[in-house]
Amino acid sequence: MLPGPDQIVACPHCHGLAKYRTLVSGNTFGAQVWSDGKQVAPMLPRPPAIVRCRHCAECYWLYDAKEIGTQEPWGREDDPVDPAWKNAEYIEEPTEAEYYSALEGNLASDRERERSLRVLAWWRRNDAFRGRSHAADGAVPEASEPFKSNLRALAELLDAGDENDLVMKAEVLRELGEFEAAAGVLHRIASREYRDVVHQPGPLTVSRWEDKRVGRGDGSPLLPICRMEAQLWMQRWDAVCFRSWPRSLIRGAAMDGDIPSRPS
Ligand SMILES: [Zn+2]
Repeated sequence: MLPGPDQIVACPHCHGLAKYRTLVSGNTFGAQVWSDGKQVAPMLPRPPAIVRCRHCAECYWLYDAKEIGTQEPWGREDDPVDPAWKNAEYIEEPTEAEYYSALEGNLASDRERERSLRVLAWWRRNDAFRGRSHAADGAVPEASEPFKSNLRALAELLDAGDENDLVMKAEVLRELGEFEAAAGVLHRIASREYRDVVHQPGPLTVSRWEDKRVGRGDGSPLLPICRMEAQLWMQRWDAVCFRSWPRSLIRGAAMDGDIPSRPS
């Protein structure tokens, strides 16, 4: 992984400055892909597609923020740098509750953005469960009403004629506890590419999704997924994020690498 300069951006609402780290190159070594479609890649860190402004507390798409300039984070002390750039703080992602507030505002300006925003809100909630087992302390909270209504609305936005969307819809229904419906959606998947994933032994097979214990499983609402499935799941990540991130973030960032086998 090779870091690039910090990108300085201005909030579209108040013009307050913020910055994020860019990459010259990165890879997916050590990455984990989860059943909700999110990939967490330590060697490919990316800023959030939605940002909560530290100045005015409004949320905005990073894609919409004006790019002010770039700054080398380890530049020489005597390099002339605008103090406002130097003092700009790194951007932060909204909380789950702030995502729901943003959905009621005007960030979901069209169907595609609404879909992305709902996926990002879903992932934000699930971040609390990635890489942890909650079974021991019984710490899995009951799904909140805003979480459920977000997933129900997302399910409505998914295209029944698109197999990529059907896999996502099955996961949405599974996380809502609608196991029979989830399995029914998976049964509609016909292409060889996806059949191999949903009908072979693995964490996301139809037989496991029909097992109601899977939803609670080890106490996590999420399932880590392995190499073969990850190749497909990452298409969803790409579909959400590559249209939502600034072009400058994508440009030049090599993304070769490997997805690890399922963790023990
Ligand atoms: Zn602002």
